[in-house]
Amino acid sequence: MTGTLRDASAAQGGSGESAVDHEAVIGLEVHAQLLTRSKMFCGCPATYVEAEPNDNTCPVCLGMPGTLPVINRRAVEYTVRTALALNCVIPDFTKFDRKNYFYPDLPKGYQISKYDLPLSVDGHLEFDLDGRRVRCGITRVHLEEDTGTLHHAGDVLQSATSSLVDYNRSGVPLMEIVGEPDLRSAAEAKEYLERLRQILMYIGVNDGNLEQGSFRCDANVSIRPRGTETLGVKVEIKNMNSFRAVQRAVEYEIARQIAVLDGGGSLHQETRGWVEARGATISQRSKEQAHDYRYFPEPDLAPLVLGAEFVEEVRRALPELPEARAARLIEQHGITEGEAVLLTATREQADSYERIVGRGVSAGVAARWLGNDVLRLANADHLPLWESGLGEDGLVALLGLVEAGTVNSTTAKALLEELYLAGGDPVAIVRDRGLGQVSDTDALGALVDAAITANPKAVADFQAGKETALQPVVGHVMKATRGRADARLVNRLLRERLSG
Ligand SMILES: [Zn+2]
Repeated sequence: MTGTLRDASAAQGGSGESAVDHEAVIGLEVHAQLLTRSKMFCGCPATYVEAEPNDNTCPVCLGMPGTLPVINRRAVEYTVRTALALNCVIPDFTKFDRKNYFYPDLPKGYQISKYDLPLSVDGHLEFDLDGRRVRCGITRVHLEEDTGTLHHAGDVLQSATSSLVDYNRSGVPLMEIVGEPDLRSAAEAKEYLERLRQILMYIGVNDGNLEQGSFRCDANVSIRPRGTETLGVKVEIKNMNSFRAVQRAVEYEIARQIAVLDGGGSLHQETRGWVEARGATISQRSKEQAHDYRYFPEPDLAPLVLGAEFVEEVRRALPELPEARAARLIEQHGITEGEAVLLTATREQADSYERIVGRGVSAGVAARWLGNDVLRLANADHLPLWESGLGEDGLVALLGLVEAGTVNSTTAKALLEELYLAGGDPVAIVRDRGLGQVSDTDALGALVDAAITANPKAVADFQAGKETALQPVVGHVMKATRGRADARLVNRLLRERLSG
């Protein structure tokens, strides 16, 4: 069964029965622009966000009569790479087709796409959610071209008196990833989308930008009585440009469809747009059927026969995927699952962790620091460690001081905070400012005695069995050393004195 060709037009519902236990059936269609230098069928740059309107165009992507398309080899390679990462089968033979429709952002009057013989079929994506394993089939991953963009006066189509067309995006390589209707909740839909985006970014084919639209998603939502297999009337939702919007829109649509059926109404196949400000989907148009597009084979392009050798070459070059990498890090370094998930969130993050461990920082210490304090600063400053002032060199030096016991973790955290943006050599700073950890037993012993004298109540509480009462006494010593005391040694000395 193919998602978009499925005949879901059979009428259902309208019986007036209420309180039926409904289940949602959700399938996602993702469009992802490929990170190629040039466009799909011409040599124009594929970047368009910062270019002046219509600068990155030529007769091919402007749809001039008599021009001929040439297939971008890298785009085919990236699509095959994606298909393999999503466990798809790559058929021996594939061809491009024309999808015919009129719109001002489509200068040729047709989009070069794929219809009945896509580049890949029958894949799946698996992920964990709330302790369950969810498996979503991938109908196909195929390759097409993006359209231009329209700029309506005042940004509102309905009230605009004029619209401008920018063809910079026209012909940018676009991958379509069609998921099977295997998802059963808005939460599953959101998780699927996040995992898919993570994989595309890991394998370097897409930049995952939902806001700018280089990664976009439409959702097909229907409902049916739980326990039945027949698919209900499918509604397509568009205009969702964040993960949160996807979750909210799907939740809204499920509730709306149930309310329509419970109220005795019936659903019809249509396209609805998500309106963020209203928190609702609104009807846009009745959904086209595949035959409305009058697909036919693209006569200007020969069919594509990829060959087993090409596919194997792409498969061999496939990087380790996030889940496999997290499992390996747990196995190899004994870090926790939570740490592994954080560290493999992006490929760059995982690479950074492995470089730091490769330079002698112990795996557990590196995981804890990268997963907590470093991550917090990276998020706050919108700057990953490897681009920060401190850099990996600085962090390796700082953690070296921690592991050698030269500074305690309080001092190290303060230094991390100070140097993250500003940069600097932690070793030199610790030496110049005298920040070295105080771990001299005699010196600390005198401070511990003073702290005991100064905190008679806390000491009495501790001796009466209240463990936490010791904290202010330890704090007294830390303050006296400006945070540089070896906290473990202070604890030991205190306990020795108070138990004696
Ligand atoms: Zn062009």
